Amino acid sequence: MTKTWTYTQPVEILFQSGIAGKIDDLLNQRGFTKGILVCDEFFLSAWGKISPKLTTTYSDIQPNPTIENAQNCTNAIIASDAEFVLAVGGGSAIDCAKIAAALAKSKQNAAKVFAGEESLAGLSLPLIVIPTTAGTGSEVTPVSVLMDAEEGKKSSIVHPCLFPKLTIIDPELCVSMPPDLTAITGLDALAHAIEAFWSINHQPICDALALEASRKVFEYLPTAYKDGNNLKARAEMCEASVMAGMAFAIPRTAGSHACSYAFTTGYDVPHGEACALTLAAFTRINCEAEEGRLHNFAKQLGFKDAYAMADRIDELKKMTGMRMTLKEIGVTEKDIPMLVEASKHPNLLFNPVEMDDKRLKELLEGLL
Ligand code: NAD
Repeated sequence: MTKTWTYTQPVEILFQSGIAGKIDDLLNQRGFTKGILVCDEFFLSAWGKISPKLTTTYSDIQPNPTIENAQNCTNAIIASDAEFVLAVGGGSAIDCAKIAAALAKSKQNAAKVFAGEESLAGLSLPLIVIPTTAGTGSEVTPVSVLMDAEEGKKSSIVHPCLFPKLTIIDPELCVSMPPDLTAITGLDALAHAIEAFWSINHQPICDALALEASRKVFEYLPTAYKDGNNLKARAEMCEASVMAGMAFAIPRTAGSHACSYAFTTGYDVPHGEACALTLAAFTRINCEAEEGRLHNFAKQLGFKDAYAMADRIDELKKMTGMRMTLKEIGVTEKDIPMLVEASKHPNLLFNPVEMDDKRLKELLEGLL
């Protein structure tokens, strides 16, 4: 078999504890003079005055940002006449800023792009990203995930123009994360890494990143969860997030992400917890693929095989208070046919084991 693969990662990444406090100097060094701060409410008071170059702020962003949030943010950027966008926050604020920086430059409409009626023109204002959670990987991906609030549908917009220009990672910003958010986002990183590895689009650079990102989550998430002030664990989890983001940006994610969107839109389950709900179950299914490739991955992480890795995923979820069954999120037996349909998201096509209706039903019923 001839191997063919490509790898691109255009984001400049600065990683340093305490670096976020030097943002004004960093903007000076890069010649930025007038920008808009896009962040969620939590960071507004602390960040609103961090640099005189940030002349405007936009903070009306809900978790799982909507098309409306993205359009309003776009309008705010255009009205501010900003030459750059600084996003501070979790994946929701970053995703909102990513798409809005592009739409503001190309003067396109968020709803039309989300619906696929228009492709992104490929332009963007320079975007600087400062993540405050550790898990989404949005800080290094060309992806913005938006929600159509009316249809209750979540979908990704993917385009190279959505890569941030610069990502500044300061593990100290994660210290304020409560334990549940630490677990939710940490499990998101694990789902990215494992799904990137088993995606049918897998390739060697991303495989290596996936392996190291998974190792970091298995090793450091318990400490970050129990002792949020442990800066070593916070830093390792930030690195896991970046590496897992780089791991999935090209191969994309698969079954667990495909199933997750309906848990979020229909049952209000946070993204990382929604992915984690099926991660162990897909691990047990996906070991069937490619002659033990996943067992080999698990062995490199110190597990006996992929089944043992699946057990450890369940233990991690239990230890961090994540919900283990679909009943706990409010799913009943009569919801299963709807969930089977909703799980037929494009990412499902990247799963290494084909998931027909029967298998999806079995998987979901097994988690009830
Ligand atoms: P989030 O951004 O939705 O934030 C959740 C909550 O945590 C918010 O209320 C926020 O104010 C708060 N918060 C953030 N940082 C905090 C901190 N340091 N201390 C205390 N509170 C803090 O959560 P998230 O999990 O980072 O992002 C989820 C979103 O990211 C979802 O919409 C998901 O679909 C998306 N996502 C995007 C990508 C991508 O590649 N673009 C990948 C994975 C997930």
